[in-house]
Amino acid sequence: MNVAVRAEKLESTQHAADPLDHLADKLFHKMGTDGVYARTGLYEHVVERLAALITQHRETATEVMRFPPVMNRAQLEKSGYLKSFPNLLGCVCGLHGTEREIHQAVARFDAGGDWTTSLSPADLVLSPAACYPVYPIAAARGPLPQGGLRFDVAADCFRHEPSRHLDRLQSFRMREYVCIGSPEDVSDFRDRWMVRAQAIARDLGLSFKVDYASDPFFGRVGQMKAVSQKQQSLKFELLVPLRSEEQPTACMSFNYHRDHFGTTWDIKDATGAPAHTGCVAFGMDRLAVAMFHIHGTDLAKWPAPVRELLDL
Ligand code: AMP
Ligand code: ZN
Repeated sequence: MNVAVRAEKLESTQHAADPLDHLADKLFHKMGTDGVYARTGLYEHVVERLAALITQHRETATEVMRFPPVMNRAQLEKSGYLKSFPNLLGCVCGLHGTEREIHQAVARFDAGGDWTTSLSPADLVLSPAACYPVYPIAAARGPLPQGGLRFDVAADCFRHEPSRHLDRLQSFRMREYVCIGSPEDVSDFRDRWMVRAQAIARDLGLSFKVDYASDPFFGRVGQMKAVSQKQQSLKFELLVPLRSEEQPTACMSFNYHRDHFGTTWDIKDATGAPAHTGCVAFGMDRLAVAMFHIHGTDLAKWPAPVRELLDL
């Protein structure tokens, strides 16, 4: 086999076709990096309609906040992110030197060298989930009212997990409902949302199952954290079989953080005890990809009840 043929073979095994690949041309434009895509109008239309559907299900007395794609680095550090998922985090860096140092970095690049060695971290990270910024904001408001607080939050999120699979992006949209309150407030909230979310998935014509889950904690100690998270039923996922029944895709998650954020940010519930928190997260891009994979890329051919539900 000559070198060119061997290289081509290698390329085709590395890039083995994935069941979701058929969607790529209709939904995305490549931007040079796996897991980071420009979105077509067709795709964005469905993301918007899904977002509107989730809004329709918002509970009363839920405060809306929309976050930018970056957040304060110290706040994420304090939240314990580096203990759990340091491998996924993206940090904003900049050329923070003197004018001379910045000129030197650019000159190095112009001469074919590496300008990035002059970068230093800013006080920002790319938000890895939508709910992190809400806890310090809630904490600043003092003790919680009876019944706790509820928020509707969203952000563009980043996780450094490059993949060619269209349901595993590095940059994706997350929408969340968050509850901060007593243990009962939070467990009632999560129970309600687990029922409601399944009704939404059914209405959307998705086949799914809900199962215990764990987060992808980093390293060997992380594996123990994952086991304990499962044993305590702290995380459930709504799983849609996109590429196979064995490896379904998590399109929503239902998370109970116990008093982790309450203690970290000194949030007290109405009784003065550390607040408990929980969130239900909707992966907007995964939900949209799932809809196109199940119903096809021609919206006119989607089932009538689904079209009606989404007002398509
Ligand atoms: P998690 O905090 O991991 O439970 O994430 C919440 C939701 O965000 C998941 O249920 C997914 O729907 C979505 N999500 C997480 N990671 C990714 C990713 N790499 N690409 C696309 N969506 C994701
Ligand atoms: Zn959350």
